[in-house]
Amino acid sequence: MRDAEPKAIHLSDYRPPAWLVDKVDLDFSLHPSQTRVTSKLSLRRNPAGALGAPVVLDGDGLTLVRLAIDGKPMAGPSFEATPDRLTLAHPPADAFVLEIETLVDPTANTQLMGLYRTSSNYCTQCEPEGFRRITYYPDRPDVLSVFTTRVEADEAESPVLLGNGNLVESGKVDGTSRHYAVWHDPWPKPSYLFALVGGRLAKISDSFLTRSGREVELGIYVEHGKEARAGYAMDALKRSMRWDEEAFGREYDLDVFNIVAVSDFNMGAMENKGLNVFNDKYVLATPETATDADYSGIEGVIAHEYFHNWTGNRITCRDWFQLCLKEGLTVFRDQEFSSDERSRPVKRIADVRALKAAQFTEDQGPLAHPVRPETYREINNFYTATVYEKGAEVVRMLKTLLGEAGFRAGMDLYFERHDGEAATIEDFVASFADATGRDLSQFALWYAQSGTPVLTVSGAWDAEAGTYRLDVAQEVPPTPGQPTKKPMLIPLALGLVGPDGRDQPLALGNVPVENGVVEVSEARQSFLFTGLDARPVPSLNRGFSAPVNLVSDLTEADRVFLAAHDADPFNRFDAIQRIALEMLKTGARTGSLPATEALVTAARAILADTTLDAAFKAQALALPGEGEVARELAKDVDPDAVFAARKTLRLAMGTALEGAFATTYSAMAATGPFSPDASSAGRRALRNLSLDFLAVTGSAEGIARAKAQFEAADNMTDRITALAVLTQHEVPEREAALQAFYDRFERDALVIDKWFTLQAQIAAPGTLDRIKDLMLHPAFSLGNPNRVRSLVGAFAATNPTQFNRADGAGHEFVTDVVLTLDGKNPQVAARLLASFKTFRQLEPVRRASAERALRKVAETPGLSPDVADIATRALG
Ligand SMILES: [Zn+2]
Repeated sequence: MRDAEPKAIHLSDYRPPAWLVDKVDLDFSLHPSQTRVTSKLSLRRNPAGALGAPVVLDGDGLTLVRLAIDGKPMAGPSFEATPDRLTLAHPPADAFVLEIETLVDPTANTQLMGLYRTSSNYCTQCEPEGFRRITYYPDRPDVLSVFTTRVEADEAESPVLLGNGNLVESGKVDGTSRHYAVWHDPWPKPSYLFALVGGRLAKISDSFLTRSGREVELGIYVEHGKEARAGYAMDALKRSMRWDEEAFGREYDLDVFNIVAVSDFNMGAMENKGLNVFNDKYVLATPETATDADYSGIEGVIAHEYFHNWTGNRITCRDWFQLCLKEGLTVFRDQEFSSDERSRPVKRIADVRALKAAQFTEDQGPLAHPVRPETYREINNFYTATVYEKGAEVVRMLKTLLGEAGFRAGMDLYFERHDGEAATIEDFVASFADATGRDLSQFALWYAQSGTPVLTVSGAWDAEAGTYRLDVAQEVPPTPGQPTKKPMLIPLALGLVGPDGRDQPLALGNVPVENGVVEVSEARQSFLFTGLDARPVPSLNRGFSAPVNLVSDLTEADRVFLAAHDADPFNRFDAIQRIALEMLKTGARTGSLPATEALVTAARAILADTTLDAAFKAQALALPGEGEVARELAKDVDPDAVFAARKTLRLAMGTALEGAFATTYSAMAATGPFSPDASSAGRRALRNLSLDFLAVTGSAEGIARAKAQFEAADNMTDRITALAVLTQHEVPEREAALQAFYDRFERDALVIDKWFTLQAQIAAPGTLDRIKDLMLHPAFSLGNPNRVRSLVGAFAATNPTQFNRADGAGHEFVTDVVLTLDGKNPQVAARLLASFKTFRQLEPVRRASAERALRKVAETPGLSPDVADIATRALG
């Protein structure tokens, strides 16, 4: 464990590396507890680095065995080695080969950073700072080197040996039970992209022919017996490779591309060059075990990691402050891929829902930070929704501002200029500015200013002149370290909808508005639209063109009108959601829900509209979640009151629309064999939404319908949704169904995760005790991140009434788990603690209880830097 009070690192302190590594030859002799790592670094003084600087290499908990310079062993005072650092105060020359031997214990590595074991296989995770847990190295992303890796292991224990790049040699080690493989990666890369895998794994194989005729061998490695579950991932990989050639002109650049699925993994997946390592949750799927959300998650994550080959690997980040350079851009790319493969509006709605749930809440609380932070204590804690999801929104806005052709020209220039380099956000933005001739300096504030801008909009209709004036004011609320902000450049897509439901012409001073986008750049601004026949209803921020909170003077009647007529599907969705949100806010504040007629009418029209696809209807009619209502209320939130308002509204909708939901439930029944495609998934989503509303009263009929679906389902989506409906009702069918589900899937850890999650989400006082019992269940393990997330993580993140119990027991429980987990896996512990990011919006009693729990964590001696950082900032 490192120093518990790590120093803050500032972007402004960046200095180029003093030493470069031209090439590195690694030799791993794998052993469960004593893996020997020999590293030969061809070091060269960086002409751009500090003059006469010593060689200082990073380490983390390392044991040095041997050190040699140009083949001569070194001793004593010529170097200084601590577990965390290797220093050569007086390097012998400006270029030399440093040979380092270390011993590491993969079995004892419960942090899952560096080299570790999972299901008795060997595997590595090096981003961001895991390589220094393997050997001493300048472990920073701007040191790019050519890696050759020899891996040796017992052949019976690890018949499969994988590394980055292409396989150049393999064979047996004479006179032993061991064998080896040598992998060479010709593309210079930083150490965080290093990977190796050794173990007993089954392979599914395929191939891909690139546009220029390179035959690429594709492999997905899984546990034996699970080969059949990797087919969808392989299909998604091939589609991703084709799409990147078509949409971005990017081809794959090695002879092999391998993916390995492992069951113990801190994150979703990792884009190591030519050897992606995946959480098996994002590889394995069959209709029986995976939901539609799992299928789309696999498609998205496979694409994301593959796309990193160009945005992240070929062009990498200069330092970790630039994390959004690779992540925001690559999330944007995977979102675009899924939009092309599926329904674009539905994908956009799902992405915005996720953005608001995770990122807008982050922006509103003590953990708010810019898309590109300027300071950090623990970089592990910046793999956030702001860096990823808001980072993607910033790239999307760039495309909206520059148009399709301008955006592509900027991307092409970025690839041309920076291929093989470690780049910055400034490099990225400059590529677009130079390709299009546009000044993007104000736009770049999106990377520097944290907080969600609030756009306040009102309209004035002048019948005589045929004009409509839109007055827009923008404000970015204060966030930690940023009390005042400058006005941002906000692309506002809009339409003016006429009384007939059609868009009226959009012109400013008789000049047509290009692409329907106006640019808001000042604190206060007016736009005068001309040439109108009738008072329009404005449809604002179409397609969610900017990640802002929009406050408008639209009435409920305007929203009902937009929900029925808006040409922009996103805003049709948003209109109905906004009606529901306003009602829920009032309901939560006053304890009584306003009249529901308008919402019911709008919902009925959407259900009956045959021009809309089922997936869209399911999104539009799913009521805003408790988290979204809480975020909108922003202060003195009583989660029980939010829950009660939402329950009342669900009852009102379910009752008023019972007939329509019953018709929909029957109409959306499957007509053929299961298929995970978007259209079939949409039908299931709408049918399952209907099932939920039909059971909302807890009537015997509704429960019986859910039970029947649970028992007859031929796929996981239908089965788990029916089970979810049953678990939210206090009925005898609940426990019986939970037991039946467990019995059916007890051998399948990923499915049992769903079983944990459903129980963690029950909004009832008994849930906390249920979770404590489940933690003792043989299927649960605190050592496996997926288990922790599915039970304790789901409780903290998605069960607001029980996590925020008024007696404080929920808060106390979660922080106790954080403290226990911190000694094993600080990264997962810190993420769990980050569930407290919204505690300031709670009403005083719950806020005090959360603060008490956080304080107890902060005052615990020996915390990891990860957990200490979150606790300190949350209390801030
Ligand atoms: Zn990524």
